[in-house]
Amino acid sequence: MAKKATYGSVKRFGSRYGKRLRDRYGAIEAQQRKKHKCPYCNYEQVRREAIGIWKCGKCNSKFTSKAYTVAKPATIRVEVEEE
Ligand SMILES: [Zn+2]
Repeated sequence: MAKKATYGSVKRFGSRYGKRLRDRYGAIEAQQRKKHKCPYCNYEQVRREAIGIWKCGKCNSKFTSKAYTVAKPATIRVEVEEE
C-alpha cells in the first residue's frame, strides 16, 4: 500500500472540505509552523509571528519575508569602491 502524506494540523477539520484541499492546506501549514533558518545568525530558530513577519528566537531579530515561508536570503552584492 502506498504511503500517504498526512498532516496532523488538518485533523481539526475532520472530514470537511475534501481530502485534496485539506492535504494542500496541511502542506502549507506545516511549512509555516516549522522553525526556519535565520538569515542573520543561521540558526533554525525563526518562527512566524504574523503573515510575512518572522522572528528569530536566537538573535531576536524580527524581519519580513514571504507569507508562509522564509525566503532564501538574496545574495548580498558588495560593491567595492575604487580609489
Ligand atoms: Zn537569528
